[in-house]
Amino acid sequence: MTVAQKRAAWAKPIRPGVLARRFLGWLVQPLLLVGGGLIIITWGAALIKIHAELAQAERMSVADAQNYALLFEQDVLRTSSEIDRTIKYLRQTYERLEGAGDWPALVSEEYTINNRTVQIAIIDRTGDMITSTAMLRPTKRIDLSDREHFKVHVGTTRDQLFISRPLLGRASNKWSIQFTRPFRRGDGTFGGVIVVSLDPDALVSNYGNLRAFTRGSFLLLGADDIVRASAGDSRYQIGSSYREGEREVITIPTGDGTTVFRSNWDGETRIVGARRVGSLPLEVIVSAPETHLSNVRREAVYYLAVAAAVTLGVVFGIGRALRRQRRRLSEITALAHNDILTGLRNRFSYQTMIGDLFKLPHAERTCALHLIDLDKFKSVNDTYGHQVGDLLLKAVAQRLSSGVRGMDYVFRLGGDEFALIQFECTRHDQAARVANRLCKLLSEPFLIEDYELRIGCSIGTVVGSDQVDTADGMLQAADMALYLSKSEGRGTFRFYDRGMDEALARRRKLEFELQQAAERGELELHYQPKLAISGEPTICGFEALVRWRHPEHGMMPPFEFIQLAEETGAIVNIGNWVLLQACKDVKALNPDITVAINCSAVQFARSDVSAAVERALIDTGLEPQRLEIEITETMLMKNDQRTLTQLEAIRRLGVRISLDDFGTGYSSLSYLHTYPVDCIKVDRSFVKTIGTERDAGPIIRAIVAMACELSLTTVAEGVETAEQLAFLQRYGCTAVQGYLFSPPRPAVEAFSKLGQEAWSKAA
Ligand code: C2E
Ligand code: MG
Ligand code: MG
Repeated sequence: MTVAQKRAAWAKPIRPGVLARRFLGWLVQPLLLVGGGLIIITWGAALIKIHAELAQAERMSVADAQNYALLFEQDVLRTSSEIDRTIKYLRQTYERLEGAGDWPALVSEEYTINNRTVQIAIIDRTGDMITSTAMLRPTKRIDLSDREHFKVHVGTTRDQLFISRPLLGRASNKWSIQFTRPFRRGDGTFGGVIVVSLDPDALVSNYGNLRAFTRGSFLLLGADDIVRASAGDSRYQIGSSYREGEREVITIPTGDGTTVFRSNWDGETRIVGARRVGSLPLEVIVSAPETHLSNVRREAVYYLAVAAAVTLGVVFGIGRALRRQRRRLSEITALAHNDILTGLRNRFSYQTMIGDLFKLPHAERTCALHLIDLDKFKSVNDTYGHQVGDLLLKAVAQRLSSGVRGMDYVFRLGGDEFALIQFECTRHDQAARVANRLCKLLSEPFLIEDYELRIGCSIGTVVGSDQVDTADGMLQAADMALYLSKSEGRGTFRFYDRGMDEALARRRKLEFELQQAAERGELELHYQPKLAISGEPTICGFEALVRWRHPEHGMMPPFEFIQLAEETGAIVNIGNWVLLQACKDVKALNPDITVAINCSAVQFARSDVSAAVERALIDTGLEPQRLEIEITETMLMKNDQRTLTQLEAIRRLGVRISLDDFGTGYSSLSYLHTYPVDCIKVDRSFVKTIGTERDAGPIIRAIVAMACELSLTTVAEGVETAEQLAFLQRYGCTAVQGYLFSPPRPAVEAFSKLGQEAWSKAA
């Protein structure tokens, strides 16, 4: 996997479901709820207020239009009625006189004329003007038979008030509207037409100055939509035609006979009210700009500005708070993903990354997992304390980080367990190179607070995903490989393979069986004689060595189960059994013989060996000087007070203590001085080199000399040849043990027959 691919894996697209959940989670934050609520309330209040005021403004505009239309209508109706009454009065007077009436006299009566009336004229049945207020007795014939108001009445018996289109006076050049009715002669036949002319401006002149109806317009239309009177509307002059379609712009229902609608002209919307004038063929139309509405719009801008300001304030406040929260969140996330002590990524981070890797297609999952466990960290921690332990872990983390490529990730999974994800790794040899390098890196000593610490590590490695299908399975596989790597000798690495599952299962079964081995009587003790060699080799004691007679696997030597017993703690049970059995055996079989038993560090750590020894001595009645406890150097290295106290107590009982396998550990001479040790057992790895090319004779000589100086006895282990015996005798070794005399044998053989054999052989 390339670095780019790896990044892409980390920055994978978020699924919509996850996104929605995150958004909801984000939304329900109290801060956002309060802020969002404030914004919604502010905008809601502003919009409700604007809406209410708009509705109110519309109501007021509509009411204005209705009122002024009604006012105008009533005014026109009153004027028209007055004119009609005048016409009817004249006609009635004339008709009462039964043809003897004098029209000039009638029309000149003052009360028939008012300030709005232009003139009154009488036309005879042929269309000639009989008289008019302007010319009582025309001097020449004036033919008005072509006039519409004459034509309407001539030849009909219907008595109707006709209102003419506006006419421009031929002589006066003034507009007028004619209100006409026919009159009849004494015999009831058509006599002519009474005409009352009206100055249309007089109908609307007063409205031009209305303050309450600013910039209002007033139109009077006939049924033919021809404008009879006009004020305030520059589009319509008297005599023009009212435009079709004007009324169709958003009609507002009223219910009082007024039609209210909106109309646009001169770039502004006007509210218009239209009414029929009584039963007359007239219609009034009044209109005015929607001033109420524009006032509300100005106020609305203010309300919206307030809401916007509140929104901005809230958004700004929330933004700041969220930024701060996000900063804190990222700090917490960093803490959640990193190990505080070492600064490496932690287990959570590991799980996230490995989980993401396993979401990639199989072919792109080209990585190896190395699970790293420090071999001797626990003893360093126990020996030097937690502070040194922590510093060591930090140093390990640094060394691991510096030892891998930039694209690889190192994690601390917990305790002394680390992991490395090696990217772009498809082959075992690539992974092996890295695992080897890490083993080497961690086997180098660490210098922590003037202590030179050697810990080493074991590694379990899984390559790619060829054998593993899940992220959990990957870790389990690496864990298994690590387990076996540790159990088969530390300081190295092992690859996972499918056979391990079986091996591990076997091991787990063995662990279980081992817990019960002592109780089931499957343990046996074999004894190997120790011979004093200051003179003739003489048996001076025996070492008790445990065996496990396994029901399936047969007789098992200690190296097949002691480490397992130590790891599981079963060694405490086994050790107690060995102690008691060895004491019983030597007490029962040979009254003079001494016996040495091996004790592991775990027994001292997990139980009280001194108490067990004391009890065994009491229970068996064995003399303390006939018992010897063998401990290893590594146990003393831990400088553990608990162990030391037990060793001193054992020594106080009169039991001897031997330092087993001397030379294989740190071989620090200071232990010999500090600890209660009586005997040193020189490891057989030195003895077997005697007389060979890599002769360790000088080392043995030095050890023996030093032991002698410290008044300690020495036992050489693994003596197999007479040459080795001679060498050891020459340099003053106290005793020997080895196949030259006898291998470990069952008690009966060792103490009787074989003991004798060894004796006679040596003799
Ligand atoms: P050790 O205490 O160093 O025991 C000596 C080991 O060397 C024995 O192996 C013994 O059989 C072997 N040996 C003796 N002479 C010779 C020789 O001439 N040549 C060779 N090649 N080997 C010789 P064994 O019995 O397999 O025990 C191995 C180790 O197991 C012991 O090493 C001891 O550390 C441990 N062990 C045995 N029994 C017990 C026990 O009861 N408790 C504990 N904690 N450890 C035990
Ligand atoms: Mg031993
Ligand atoms: Mg030994």
